[in-house]
Amino acid sequence: MNLRDCIFCRIVAGEAPAHLVHDEELVLSFMDIAPVGDGHLLIVPKAHSENVLDTEPAALAAVMAASRRLAHALKRALGCDGIGVHQLNGAAAGQTVFHYHMHLIPRNHGDPIAFHGRKAGDPERIAENARKIAAALERA
Ligand code: 5GP
Ligand code: ZN
Repeated sequence: MNLRDCIFCRIVAGEAPAHLVHDEELVLSFMDIAPVGDGHLLIVPKAHSENVLDTEPAALAAVMAASRRLAHALKRALGCDGIGVHQLNGAAAGQTVFHYHMHLIPRNHGDPIAFHGRKAGDPERIAENARKIAAALERA
């Protein structure tokens, strides 16, 4: 695959827009463009890999550590009841973007369980959530 065709590689390279929340050595965190709910975050290794099967263990560890830090930040920022932390491997499993990524989805009691949003979210609301989560990360 030509990495220029990978939307998450283009976001990592700063060539495509995204609402960034955190930038660290191996990993970038940004808001999902079609959130299942308020605060839906994606965490990606900066180096391209397709899914969990071909991702270097160091990158997997960095994604998991970032997931924990950002899950705490989501709780602080949004006060949600729970957080889905999950990822999909292969089209048959529902994966739609073939650059490994972890989803963090804030949930509240009674919310329907869904893995994908139905439509693009409101950019202003997404930007506001990105600011709130980044600020909560700073307060850690
Ligand atoms: P998957 O189905 O591969 O587990 O999840 C892909 C996720 O990426 C979906 O939740 C989808 O909304 C999100 N997504 C797809 N294209 C873009 C994009 O260009 N920017 C951002 N921020 N998220 C995207
Ligand atoms: Zn990629």
